[in-house]
Amino acid sequence: MGENGIKLDIGEALRYLGVKEDPEGTMARAVETEADKLVRALRPRYVYRLFPVGQGRSGVVLQGSGVTLPGSLAGRMLAQCDQAALLACTLGARFETMLRAAQARDMARAVILDACGSALVEACCDGLEREIASRYPGRYLTDRFSPGYGDLPLETQDAICTALDAERRLGVQVRSSHLMNPSKSVTAVIGLADAPQPARVRGCAYCSLAGSCSIREGGKSCAD
Ligand code: SF4
Repeated sequence: MGENGIKLDIGEALRYLGVKEDPEGTMARAVETEADKLVRALRPRYVYRLFPVGQGRSGVVLQGSGVTLPGSLAGRMLAQCDQAALLACTLGARFETMLRAAQARDMARAVILDACGSALVEACCDGLEREIASRYPGRYLTDRFSPGYGDLPLETQDAICTALDAERRLGVQVRSSHLMNPSKSVTAVIGLADAPQPARVRGCAYCSLAGSCSIREGGKSCAD
């Protein structure tokens, strides 16, 4: 864990690397070494804002944000929510510099560093999710979901970054391909509701409703 309190999930970095078996722990140790350097060197930055949820002709409207979330995923995720948080998180340009330096010297190390960067930005989003949960006690959060998941188009990132003023506040720009620069940056949506929310993205194994769920008893999932 770094001074910033963020703990990078080594198992997640190994999954990004496609490592299925590591009996001697060699890869895990290599990942831990790079993860440790990253967590010490970087200060991930983030921003989030809450907006009221409404229904528009072409999808869920986050009122006052300029963001519309088209498609069935956003409709399902936010069906019981009266508010949603838009968030953006980035490792910043320093990660790109570290990655380029590693690529010039040792490509194998650079691949591990890249996977650690992905795991670190996700860990930062996890921390942000916990911060939102603690700031709004008594509210229930949906799973976090991002442009590019399911049928939520990647181009939604453009409007989310504009709504959050991410370029000025975080130094994050959206390219014409709708990908972000710096590359280890994430935008996401989390719904807030007054009732417990199913784990639609993470699945039944993580769901607080699993013990009493009639959908699951029928052999289905609300993610279907
Ligand atoms: S199907 Fe039931 S247990 Fe599974 S995620 Fe949905 S609500 Fe939770």
